[in-house]
Amino acid sequence: MTFAPSNGPVQISTEELQSRIRDLGAQIARDYEGKEPHLICVLNGAFLFHSDLVRALSMPLTVDFLAVSSYGNAKQSSGEVRLVKDLSLPLSNRHVILVEDIVDTGITMHYLLHYLEGRGPASLKVAALLSKPSRRKVEVPVDYLGFTIPDAFVYGYGLDRAQFDRNLPFITSQE
Ligand code: 5GP
Repeated sequence: MTFAPSNGPVQISTEELQSRIRDLGAQIARDYEGKEPHLICVLNGAFLFHSDLVRALSMPLTVDFLAVSSYGNAKQSSGEVRLVKDLSLPLSNRHVILVEDIVDTGITMHYLLHYLEGRGPASLKVAALLSKPSRRKVEVPVDYLGFTIPDAFVYGYGLDRAQFDRNLPFITSQE
């Protein structure tokens, strides 16, 4: 799904977020019928998306959390990804869905997929709320995508602006 006003700020309302997440939940529920998916939240930015996505799934599932740091307080990625909180549960024989807030250059996702593949999951897919394809430096698969957005710095709904504004119930790029 595209959400790309050709000019002007990015603005995704609470209703648009919730409706799209319900659709993603329905798609995941169909694809994982008879399985028990394991949804890994990439902290901090994906914490609201992850919590709404798991509530959109009425099926047996498990969750885990990891945290990476690549930005500090900067608006541009440093290009260096660091794992700052590791998983608590093993991945062997698990059907893993990695839940990320936004894929920008793709560097973080590329790093995480490589890391998780090394832990031997039965399968590995990606759910990302947002994608900025025009910024991509590394191609990464996004199996479940909320919205495609243009090249703008966005915040709200889990995404920060210098650590603040994660609690906004919508996404915006407005100053
Ligand atoms: P990538 O490695 O794909 O360049 O960056 C991924 C990470 O950078 C995301 O998980 C997110 O934390 C951060 N990021 C990328 N673009 C934005 C943005 O527009 N706003 C915010 N708040 N974070 C972003």
